[in-house]
Amino acid sequence: KNTIDKIAAGEVVERPSSVVKELTENAIDAGATAVTVEIKDGGKTLIRITDNGAGIEKEQVPMAFVRHATSKIEKVEDLEQIVSLGFRGEALSSIAAVAQVELITKTPASITGVRYVIEGGEEKSLEEIGAPEGTTFLVHNLFYNVPARSKFLKTAATEGSYVSSLIEQLALSHPEISFKYIVNGQVKLHTSGNFSRRDVIYQIYGRDITKEILEVHYENEFLSLEGYIGKPSVSRGNRNFENYYINGRYVKNKIISKAIEDAYKGFLMQHNFPFASLQIEMTGNDLDVNVHPAKMEVRFSRGDEVYKAIYEAILQTLKKKEM
Ligand code: ADP
Ligand code: MG
Repeated sequence: KNTIDKIAAGEVVERPSSVVKELTENAIDAGATAVTVEIKDGGKTLIRITDNGAGIEKEQVPMAFVRHATSKIEKVEDLEQIVSLGFRGEALSSIAAVAQVELITKTPASITGVRYVIEGGEEKSLEEIGAPEGTTFLVHNLFYNVPARSKFLKTAATEGSYVSSLIEQLALSHPEISFKYIVNGQVKLHTSGNFSRRDVIYQIYGRDITKEILEVHYENEFLSLEGYIGKPSVSRGNRNFENYYINGRYVKNKIISKAIEDAYKGFLMQHNFPFASLQIEMTGNDLDVNVHPAKMEVRFSRGDEVYKAIYEAILQTLKKKEM
């Protein structure tokens, strides 16, 4: 069982940023309105994630670390309509297989909280303690028992930079949640959670970029698009500036990137990697998120329709700006 978990862990947990992604998405799924993410040494020695979400009942705690344990899918049909970010029930078991994990959690209904320790997939303790409502995960010494894996980690600075860009994407895709991000004891980002994506863009990219963005609103029968794109002057030599979220999930997708870039090309007559921070909403029927465990990839049942809608939305926005 331990071996299988360790292998599965390779799929889900590649580096500190993957742990942060899974645990933060769990916090979001738990309805948190405030999430604090703290890392030390790029997340290699410590990752601490605290949320004010629903918490976990004491009886459910050990279960949550069992592979394929998820409270988020009741029946197979649910797979068609996934609204939560996580749904495979692999993250906690995978992380616990390759790190020393401490969990402190309390639900609103219970009088006391629980503290649970699991290391290398082995349960160490489960006890009742006083705790605030919500959940804190501490992940110590990632890959301490998989030296082959830890050797492949990059420097703390590089691993930390992966976590930083992930946090930025999470904050941008969830402007309704207050994110606090602490690196080696220093607060690097603190968003207000006041629902304004523009405010988050300001906090991450600064004033110069925020001055140069255009608001996007678009809606057709099966897709809606909200957010901001950069004026043609705001661009980069790569796609780092192009970010979009489908139903609250940060994804990478060739069709969407191409639609955005083609719209700029149609407008400017030259290729450009523009700034974009776009929230796309569509029904689960048109979307397959079940492509890869890390869940960054999505597939569409009607890719050409997605392309057309996004192309049109971007082009309209650029043209309106002209007038
Ligand atoms: P999944 O997210 O795919 O359901 P995970 O392994 O990430 O699987 O988590 C297992 C279960 O643990 C979740 O379904 C959820 O019930 C519970 N859980 C994990 N993190 C939290 C959290 N921060 N707050 C409340 N419940 C949580
Ligand atoms: Mg999860």
